[in-house]
Amino acid sequence: MIWNRRRSPGGDPFGGSTSLAKVPVELIDILDSVDAEHMLIDASEKVIESSDGISTFSIVRDQSLINEQLLRLVRATRRSGQPQETTMELPRGPIGGGIHTLFVRVTPLGDEGLIAILIFDDSEMRRLDSIRRDFVANISHELKTPIGALSILSEAVLGAADDPEAITRFAGRMQVEAKRLSGLVQEIIDLSRLQDDDPLKNGKIFNIADAIKEAIEQTRMASEAKKIDISFTPIDQPQILGDRDQVIMAIHNLVENAVNYSPESTRVAVTLKEIDGLVDVSISDQGIGIPDKDLERIFERFYRVDAARSRETGGTGLGLSIVKHVATNHGGDVSVWSVEGAGSTFTIRFPQANAQERLHVGGNEI
Ligand code: ADP
Repeated sequence: MIWNRRRSPGGDPFGGSTSLAKVPVELIDILDSVDAEHMLIDASEKVIESSDGISTFSIVRDQSLINEQLLRLVRATRRSGQPQETTMELPRGPIGGGIHTLFVRVTPLGDEGLIAILIFDDSEMRRLDSIRRDFVANISHELKTPIGALSILSEAVLGAADDPEAITRFAGRMQVEAKRLSGLVQEIIDLSRLQDDDPLKNGKIFNIADAIKEAIEQTRMASEAKKIDISFTPIDQPQILGDRDQVIMAIHNLVENAVNYSPESTRVAVTLKEIDGLVDVSISDQGIGIPDKDLERIFERFYRVDAARSRETGGTGLGLSIVKHVATNHGGDVSVWSVEGAGSTFTIRFPQANAQERLHVGGNEI
């Protein structure tokens, strides 16, 4: 049998020096072929081998397991000599309500105290299931409104064959409804893409200041039309882990709302701060603000404070639910402060890339 220590050319894969056990290459091949993340633990409880995805759970540090529940399971396996199974919930980041739902199987291997841990990530399936169920219910209702309007307007056009002025008026309204319908379809596509993706698993580390600049740039036409000045002069250049396009989309939605719900010739300020391993992006406006009673609900899909006004600006009520999805999926959160008539500040936070492991240990902040 060929013995090999994988991912450790010339040294220890984790930078430590205590791992003594060697792992048969065939065993690793078998583990790699299972559709699960895996780890191998030696008799001294050191992690001597792990698949790449393990790092997204923040359960290993310096070659040691740092999640209590998992440690208990490993010890129970060692004591009983029998495989043990459990389901576990781990936070996706140090803040926000996002969780990984994991099914874990711990199996003893041979007489040398080697233990295999297999982790099956169920979160995606559960999340998609519940989201799809209620999404389908309210989406059909939302689509019916512009389609119904188009149908009534087209009848009105037919009935006004000898009144060119009325035809022009109806055609203008048809254009508005058609635009609304296409905006709605685009946001539904965006939302379903988000729901199919795990940005921590498939993500990359990127500079968030540059992403914010792109998001602001995408709003330039609308802000210039309303003579709204958007300021952003970052001092920090923090990096985060995730899907850059999704983060740009979320920040763009917040900046666009700030412009849409503000009067002409006001100011929007975007700030970026690093605080204790977190990256805070705040978007403040001097707009109409949000009544207290609505603050809790604005992140719900299709929720609008004033449906007529939102329709005027081409709003769909989906923008903030997209923002919330992006934040939660990145292990972060989004919050709002607002005073009616004075303005609003939305803050979206993400774990800073290199500080993620420091903050997020086995579900506890340390
Ligand atoms: P919409 O497409 O209607 O803008 P969103 O999900 O983006 O949908 O926002 C939900 C609702 O929250 C909006 O309809 C609006 O009433 C309110 N809102 C969002 N951002 C702001 C803001 N910056 N100022 C005032 N109200 C806002």
